[in-house]
This record gives sequence, structure tokens and C-alpha cells, in this order.
Amino acid sequence: MSVVITDECISCNACEAECPNNAIYGAGVSYIYGTEEKAALNEEHTYIVPDKCTECVGFHDEPQCIPSCPTEAIIADPERVETKEQLMAKKETLDKVGR
Ligand code: SF4
Repeated sequence: MSVVITDECISCNACEAECPNNAIYGAGVSYIYGTEEKAALNEEHTYIVPDKCTECVGFHDEPQCIPSCPTEAIIADPERVETKEQLMAKKETLDKVGR
């Protein structure tokens, strides 16, 4: 699954620098997928792009953003359950298209 930032977020953006996939963006900031720029997914607080989050699979043993959050706003998204194989495939896609 990807992880998600909940409304507990105070938009400090401490997590953004931790992400090896460039999956984290500030409130209202458009995100990049490959060569495409896409509309922000959240206007209220920092957000994670599910298509770019691999739970850090391919880089680290654990999600790096979760411990960086001072308000514990980052959680595993129960609506986006993915296997390790699926997460690795996502990472390999990002390797090709860019982050
Ligand atoms: Fe990025 Fe890893 Fe957090 Fe996913 S779990 S948003 S890949 S730092």
C-alpha cells in the first residue's frame, strides 16, 4: 500500500526531504509524474502521490516519512493495499519514467 497523510498534518513538510520517490508535495503544489505536471491532490495540507509511493520498497526497509512526522499524521493507507512485488514494480516504473 502507499502511505497517506491525514488531517493531523500541520504542513511542516519535514517528510518531503525523506522521500526517495519525490512522492510528497506541499499543499496546493502541483506534482510531477515522469515528464507530466499534474494538479495538486490536496489544497489543505502536505500530501503523498499514491502512484509514486512505494512504501520506500526498493530503497529502505521501512517508510522514511512516517518517523519524520511530528504529529504522527502519516499512516499506511488501508484503501491502497499492495504487495511488495507490486510496490517493487511501481518503483521500477518510476525508474523508467522518472520521479
Ligand atoms: Fe515516500 Fe517512502 Fe513515504 Fe512513500 S513511504 S511517501 S516512498 S518516504
